[in-house]
Amino acid sequence: MSEHAMCKKILLSGQAGFRVHYCETHGTVELEMGAMSLRLDEDALEIMSDSLSESVSKLHALQASRGSFDAFMRQLKNV
Ligand SMILES: [Zn+2]
Repeated sequence: MSEHAMCKKILLSGQAGFRVHYCETHGTVELEMGAMSLRLDEDALEIMSDSLSESVSKLHALQASRGSFDAFMRQLKNV
């Protein structure tokens, strides 16, 4: 496939300030975040998606454990 062939883009996901397009011609995924854009191949998108999901769930777990630690410390102080 020629690098110069016309892009045929499909919007995969779009919300304010963050859009994801897929180019069928080149098999690439384009992330648009505000003024910045990033072009990835499909494998890189999967890796990025897994990594972001893992990061979000670990962050939530960290915040939850911080929250319960703080609650535990408040209880100790009130005894
Ligand atoms: Zn393209």
